[in-house]
Amino acid sequence: MVVQPSSGVNTIVGVTTAVERRELLKEVWKEASTCTKCQLAETRQTVVFGAGNADADLMFVGEAPGANEDRGGLPFIGQAGRLLDRLLQEVGLERADVFIANVLKCRPPGNRDPRPTEIATCRDYLHKQVELIEPKVICTLGNFSTKLLRDDPTGISKVHGQPEVHVLGVRAVTIFPIYHPAAALYTPSMLDTLRADFAQLPALLAAPLPPQPAPDVFEPVPEVEPEPESPAETETATAEAVEGAPEAGAEVLEQAPKTSDDQLGLF
Ligand code: SF4
Repeated sequence: MVVQPSSGVNTIVGVTTAVERRELLKEVWKEASTCTKCQLAETRQTVVFGAGNADADLMFVGEAPGANEDRGGLPFIGQAGRLLDRLLQEVGLERADVFIANVLKCRPPGNRDPRPTEIATCRDYLHKQVELIEPKVICTLGNFSTKLLRDDPTGISKVHGQPEVHVLGVRAVTIFPIYHPAAALYTPSMLDTLRADFAQLPALLAAPLPPQPAPDVFEPVPEVEPEPESPAETETATAEAVEGAPEAGAEVLEQAPKTSDDQLGLF
């Protein structure tokens, strides 16, 4: 297993076991939980990384945390979340079976729409989640996640309920766009459409995994040996340690949240 830096989020090469993927998912969560890469860091209360089964076949990707999620730190815990739970139960699933995330991990103020720069800045985290959870099917909830993961500007009204295979990173997955459950809270007639789309999920999950890209398409980044420290640098570092100066690494560790499955909402 090799972990390499790539645009701020580690790239994982050759990960094989569910246990390793789960631990690496926690590492990505730890990085995201103190993220300040976009302006939303200034107004959020909590980074809502996502929660659920770290080894799920089914992932849901919504838009961004709302006020409840921003306070609680977990996705879909308001009214729309309760409706999502109900729709899952109707097709024989529950939260513990799926992983739920959003395009943005931080709440846009006043629940405004995500901005393109925010989506572009945050999307590495989502791609990493997909890479580590290895879902078979990704339900995109609403316009923002559908456009991002289909890499196409077509709106949800034209593509909902129509599964398509897409390659995300190193993995081919079935993308299944559906309306965001919040839409049914405002337009009750939408509930029938949502139910009809949800009814397709058991068959999609029972279908074989889409053919995966050839391994040679993906070229692992070679490991780079660290440069040996010069004697002068070593001496300076030793002198600082003796004088009790704080080490940069120690400071980061103190600020980073403790990782626990409960905090992350992992099953
Ligand atoms: S929205 Fe994403 S990129 Fe922006 S601060 Fe939050 S975690 Fe970082």
